[in-house]
Amino acid sequence: MERSESEGVGRRKFLKEAAAGAAGAGVAGGAGAAGAAGHPMAHHDHDHDHEHQVVPDDIALRVRALESILVEKEMIDPAELDAVVDTYENRIGPRNGAQVVARAWSDPEYKARLLEDGTAAITELGFGGAQGEHMVVVENTATVHNLVVCTLCSCYPWPTLGLPPVWYKSSAYRSRAVIEPRAVLDEFGVAIDDDVEVRVWDSTAEVRYLVLPERPPNTEGLSETELADIVTRDSMIGVARVSAPQPAAGADDGGGGA
Ligand code: FE
Repeated sequence: MERSESEGVGRRKFLKEAAAGAAGAGVAGGAGAAGAAGHPMAHHDHDHDHEHQVVPDDIALRVRALESILVEKEMIDPAELDAVVDTYENRIGPRNGAQVVARAWSDPEYKARLLEDGTAAITELGFGGAQGEHMVVVENTATVHNLVVCTLCSCYPWPTLGLPPVWYKSSAYRSRAVIEPRAVLDEFGVAIDDDVEVRVWDSTAEVRYLVLPERPPNTEGLSETELADIVTRDSMIGVARVSAPQPAAGADDGGGGA
């Protein structure tokens, strides 16, 4: 395959900067790596045309290499990539799911619709799309505790919870959540009484689950927004309970007796 000179230079430039990063971090062969990058460590007081960097891990390096090549070949638009990253870092995440939970706690009719048809009720609040096409919402009560896992890989409701945490994708969680869910919950700090039924839901590419956690006591005076603030990601996976907010230190107006 023929490569234009500019592509070759760009790739070399990338590799050179990566090597310089390795040398700067004092990893990978010290003077050898620095020499190869044309950037001896003894010269670190001169002006740089690049920033010092902590050497990225292997996968980050590969992703960056891939991205730089695709951008050079004009196969992807960097602005579009930034938009995708921004979406998953800032716009899609567990705050969306928290709004769903808070609405269900505040509006019994919405809650009924949510448990009846999760996808439609979640769409009412404007959340939907990829990895959330078929949502089932399961309610935690005084007698039932629901726990969500994907035993096969890492299926997870992106529109309401964002991207899955690392532990959710671990083989330990994926296997132990079904083998010994009570032990797993105990390790997450959730004690389950013997007379409470534990239901484990195995997410798939077809159906994804959202746990509707129990509304904590002493939250009657909270607005829907305030309720959303106390709902955590983990509570919507089923590995945590929601706690009532602690009164701020120094607050003496009682916060409505909560
Ligand atoms: Fe999966």
